[in-house]
Amino acid sequence: MEARYYTAEEGHAVRCNLCPHNCLLKEGQAGLCKVRKNNDGILLSENYGKVCSLHLDPIEKKPLYHYYPGRNILSVGSVGCNLHCRFCQNWEISQSSVKDYPYLKEYTPEKIVSLATSEEDNIGIAYTYNEPTVWYEFMKDIAEKANSEGLKNVMVTNGFINPEPLKELITVMHAFSVDLKAFTETFYKQLTSSSLAPVLESLKTIRASGRHLEITNLLIPGENDDEKDFRSMMEWIRDELGPDTVLHISRFFPTYKLDHNATPESLLHRFYTIAREYLHYVYLGNVSSDKGRDTTCPKCGHVLISRSGYRTKITGLDEMACCDKCREQTPVFIAGG
Ligand code: SF4
Repeated sequence: MEARYYTAEEGHAVRCNLCPHNCLLKEGQAGLCKVRKNNDGILLSENYGKVCSLHLDPIEKKPLYHYYPGRNILSVGSVGCNLHCRFCQNWEISQSSVKDYPYLKEYTPEKIVSLATSEEDNIGIAYTYNEPTVWYEFMKDIAEKANSEGLKNVMVTNGFINPEPLKELITVMHAFSVDLKAFTETFYKQLTSSSLAPVLESLKTIRASGRHLEITNLLIPGENDDEKDFRSMMEWIRDELGPDTVLHISRFFPTYKLDHNATPESLLHRFYTIAREYLHYVYLGNVSSDKGRDTTCPKCGHVLISRSGYRTKITGLDEMACCDKCREQTPVFIAGG
């Protein structure tokens, strides 16, 4: 499949304009994502239609806590990523090319949409597992068909995408779960081989579009746990995206190239308390206890949604997503709300 967003350059070279790496590729070369390749002066999307994972997941796994809580979503992914995070939890697929990964299955957009509509209690399709930006053409083709069937589209992304393709994608996506991995360029450069500034721009663009947005920050001891940097991140989210922005602080476990100890739960609880000074809705992920899981009303403290593991119960919201004690309107999408 010919890729979108590229320009022809001298001598059969092409420049991919999909993400801020803007790879210049000579004949036969693949981009940093390993799945877009120059074939005789044409940029190909090599992973188009190649699926490595397809599961019905609780939407809380994406993680999205304010978007149809308690419901399921058909989740689909492929191989390839435009980042090279040393702490990637899905590195077997994210750091593979199509030819290096033997378990890919062929699907058409129609087939994925038909599977999604045949599942009971499924709100739509989530593009996840690997970075869906590098699956742009297939994701967009599915999303357009899913829209016409009344399904919701959710993108789980690192946010490292150029503004033009992101704006086009926003026309077919309903919700975004974006990783904000740290708040320094040094971290992004040294641990992910990318940069922070484009991710911040993507977050602002998504917020301005009115699409649903939640952010995840993986807290890695010794790498992005400087309190001053974390407070700067919280200030930026509050001031640029608003205090109602949902933040998930997630626990790191050693994986791939980073063998640091797991994040101490005491550190997660301390950063949770700091984040709550700035934002109304903060959650902890990958922790053993249920602390930091419930949604409470920012005005009266009433429990609105209770969570235990992946069991979710809406306990304190009316059908319009208002607190049923003090009537505060909350930024939660629920059926009928
Ligand atoms: S999407 Fe892939 S080929 Fe295109 S610029 Fe990004 S890393 Fe390079």
